Amino acid sequence: MKREQCFIAGEWVGNGEWIAVDNPATGGIIGRVPALGREESRRAIEAAAMAMPAWAARPAGERAAILQRIAALMLERADDLAALLTEEQGKPLAEAKGEIAYAASFFQWFGEEAKRAYGDIIPGPMPDRRIMVLKHPVGVVAAITPWNFPAAMVARKLAPALAAGCGVVLKPSELTPFTALAIAQIADEAGVPRGLLNVVTGDAREIGAEMTGNPVVRKISFTGSTAVGRLLMELASRSIKKLSLELGGNAPFIVFDDADLDAAVTGAIQSKYRNAGQTCVCANRFYVQAGVYDAFAGKLATATAKLRVGEGTRTGVDIGPLIDERAVAKVQRHVDDAVAKGARIVLGGGPAPDGPRFFTPTILRDVKPGMQVLEEETFGPLAPLVKFDDDAEAIALANDSEFGLAAYFYARDVNRIWRAAEGIESGIVGINTGLISTEVAPFGGVKQSGIGREGSRYGLDDYLELKYLCLSLA
Ligand code: ADP
Repeated sequence: MKREQCFIAGEWVGNGEWIAVDNPATGGIIGRVPALGREESRRAIEAAAMAMPAWAARPAGERAAILQRIAALMLERADDLAALLTEEQGKPLAEAKGEIAYAASFFQWFGEEAKRAYGDIIPGPMPDRRIMVLKHPVGVVAAITPWNFPAAMVARKLAPALAAGCGVVLKPSELTPFTALAIAQIADEAGVPRGLLNVVTGDAREIGAEMTGNPVVRKISFTGSTAVGRLLMELASRSIKKLSLELGGNAPFIVFDDADLDAAVTGAIQSKYRNAGQTCVCANRFYVQAGVYDAFAGKLATATAKLRVGEGTRTGVDIGPLIDERAVAKVQRHVDDAVAKGARIVLGGGPAPDGPRFFTPTILRDVKPGMQVLEEETFGPLAPLVKFDDDAEAIALANDSEFGLAAYFYARDVNRIWRAAEGIESGIVGINTGLISTEVAPFGGVKQSGIGREGSRYGLDDYLELKYLCLSLA
């Protein structure tokens, strides 16, 4: 399954130049992928544009059948795909298998939704007018994906784009390209027409420059850092491309004093430590009401201390390595900054003995505004606990961020639940749950966390254009 070639115009290609890919658990090189640039990206865009009209013209049911075949093949090969994913990304094998199933669910879901890109008929403003709205595929899509979910982020873009009738050029993260290439191979086997789906790996800046500069590309779909999202938005502005951006988060996790504390701890563990804390919806800041602060801190510490750190392929491991040593250094910087400013370490606080990319699950208490850990996304296994007194304060603290992707809170009182749900500025709110990702719901952020939604019926709209027909009867 590990393909060391890119997929352009229906052919597996390379150019003799390479990028090495490593296993974050060991640092060992596991393979290499081509270091392509502008010219190959241009070829891929042209191939997608050539293949697109015939694909868009096919009945939606035919496109749906192919997408569903992709889902079925992914599930059939879930063990191999998960092994590949863990090898290049590091997460525990059980999580990798979960991610493959989650990724397959997008092909299944958007296969179903492909058939429901309904238009509209609107009562006209004058007796002779007939007004209709058609939906068309947006055009060639350039998709750029990150390393933290090498399968799911790819599927979340490919599935709606293909369902809508678009051609696609995908640039996966150079840190985790093999899962994306394996999915492309499966798509090819499932019957996606040659040329419609292309995968290029290589110099991110060069490929990004072609994707944003080429007028044939009508939409950029990006998941990654806010800094790169901002850059792509700027570059794409020259040809007014549509954009879907899933950017950084800084998710608050509020525990009110009427919460079921055991349930809150379970949710906190799921939200905080999944993928070793490397998801854009991971709880980043914990706000705990004064009356339950000590109890929650104690229970969270007990549960966190049970998490097992280690190589993702070992059985029973909960927390794998971070993606690279820079990521480890960032977590340490957040711990050190907070401790220097008065926070106390409840658990962990430093690297784990398993290797240079492992970090011990960490809890800090007495965390206060002004500490870096509350302002930046840590992207690692660190839970900072802040104490608050009343509801309005908690919501104000939660909203004190330029980001607004996911938020979580635990409470029982229905009035409190509604007020918090409505008051929190966030695209996603988990209420009495730490797990919010599903293909049936719209995933996306407000503020500087991004533009657009992925998954759900709204996710298809992001890949469709409206055309309004105004017919005047004689
Ligand atoms: P992260 O910090 O999660 O790695 P990035 O935003 O750096 O997030 O990376 C997400 C994706 O964006 C990756 O596929 C990366 O290669 C790509 N990327 C980074 N810089 C650029 C760029 N200048 N143009 C296009 N893509 C880029």
